[in-house]
Amino acid sequence: MVEYDKPNEQRGSATYDICIIGAGVAGASLACYLKDSGYRICIVERDWSEQDRIVGELLQPDGVRQLKQMGLELLLSGIEAQEILGYSIIYNGEQLDVAYPEEERGRGLRNGKFMQRMRTELSDSPNITRYEGTVKELTYKDEHTIGGIIFTDKATGEQVGVDATLTIVSDGFFSKFRIEVTESEETVTGYFLGMVLKDCQLPHTAHGHVFLTDSSPFLCYPISDRESRLLIDFPGNAAPRKGEALSQFLSSHVRPRMTAGMLPAFDAAVAEGKFKVMPNHYMPGHSKSMDGVVVVGDALNMRHPLTGGGMTVTLRDVHTIGKLLMGNKEIALKETRTTILDAFYASRGQHATVNILADALYNVMSNDALKKACFDYLAQGGKQAAEPVALLSGLNSEKSMLTRHFFAVALKGGAKEISNGYRPANFSRAYYMLADAFHIICPLIKNEANSKVVNICLNLCGQILRPRTLANAA
Ligand SMILES: Cc1cc2nc3c(=O)[nH]c(=O)nc-3n(C[C@H](O)[C@H](O)[C@H](O)COP(=O)(O)OP(=O)(O)OC[C@H]3O[C@@H](n4cnc5c(N)ncnc54)[C@H](O)[C@@H]3O)c2cc1C
Repeated sequence: MVEYDKPNEQRGSATYDICIIGAGVAGASLACYLKDSGYRICIVERDWSEQDRIVGELLQPDGVRQLKQMGLELLLSGIEAQEILGYSIIYNGEQLDVAYPEEERGRGLRNGKFMQRMRTELSDSPNITRYEGTVKELTYKDEHTIGGIIFTDKATGEQVGVDATLTIVSDGFFSKFRIEVTESEETVTGYFLGMVLKDCQLPHTAHGHVFLTDSSPFLCYPISDRESRLLIDFPGNAAPRKGEALSQFLSSHVRPRMTAGMLPAFDAAVAEGKFKVMPNHYMPGHSKSMDGVVVVGDALNMRHPLTGGGMTVTLRDVHTIGKLLMGNKEIALKETRTTILDAFYASRGQHATVNILADALYNVMSNDALKKACFDYLAQGGKQAAEPVALLSGLNSEKSMLTRHFFAVALKGGAKEISNGYRPANFSRAYYMLADAFHIICPLIKNEANSKVVNICLNLCGQILRPRTLANAA
């Protein structure tokens, strides 16, 4: 058996307290958090080299706060992470700036550098063994209990078995194991095309930018001293492909909405043609009742990346499970550890706001009336801007605040329509704005709440408020 980073004499037996699958945001940060806990941990990653990824590059303020609370703030140092103070939203040539709450800032960073920073932190820990290989199977102690893994060693091609009291499944968005250990089912909601803009002059320094367009939005934020990430949304089932159609789309749809200062960097990036495409998923996190295994990160739960909530949810989960494991060391390694796993999954209600907001906002961006109403609502400033951004930052998780603001956008938008004249067409537009808003958020709430009473109430309201598409079909 070949271990990745230990000389022969340091190689442990293939039995560990904890075995982690994947050294991504979830797996590597959990290993960092647990490295001095006394647990014997192994972490199996298929590729320890630095990756060039377009995902996970804007860390919301609550993600930063989670790292600080775990004592892992150092993971943001030495990687040119950029402080992000808030968002600038650009729509029809108007720019709206909204600051994060003062208590914490976000970070723009290169995902590959962030991962390597975490991975390096693990290399000198006597409690942690790193393997390079692809995990092929979970092994079972009995029908309901996972007892470890089998992986293919990258260097030798050998199959290696690892026994572990607890296996952490954190193999990311294309998880091979979620089907076995969760009830979660993913849906592709579209694609992001990503490119790096070098020396790009963004409209507002140290801010994330959302450009609202007639169809789908694009985002741009700094990720290092000289680089900004541009992510362009492509809704639907077809991934964008390099070629004439894409070049045409970029020059007619994206370029005209950019500010003059961004164009040289954009043109250079388009000419270079180093694009990457990733599917965006929606997947509410539903666990299975199993022992010996816990699922963390995108393997369990995904939401639209428009709001950059994925790493925040992941780091919150890492913080929770890590704390439970360190606080209950006697229990964690015994049969009664299911209490720890149950406590972990029960804690996940805390993510409802970040999860609902991501897909609700994405759907609002595809609805012209609501998109305009949302921009006008935020432009009022005060609480109407500060509270929604506090929800986006993850620093505030109040579900009632989210619902309140979401419907206030539709109601104010509707009132504005009616104030243009008491005509049937204006009343109709106001009605559909509310109905569309309801039908955007209703399934998202149902998936997060998982409560029969909530479902019955929402179904009843849904009978009264019919969205534009259904009403038209009737
Ligand atoms: C286009 C896009 C943009 C995004 N932007 C943001 C953003 O700006 N901010 C944000 O917070 N979130 C963002 N996200 C979401 C964020 O990237 C994820 O939530 C986060 O990476 C989840 O971490 P993870 O550890 O679960 O998965 P990953 O970080 O993907 O890690 C999984 C790891 O497991 C390894 N692995 C997989 N299979 C195996 C196997 N069989 N054996 C061994 N190793 C294996 C992989 O190599 C990888 O290292 C974005 C997502 C997308 C799709």
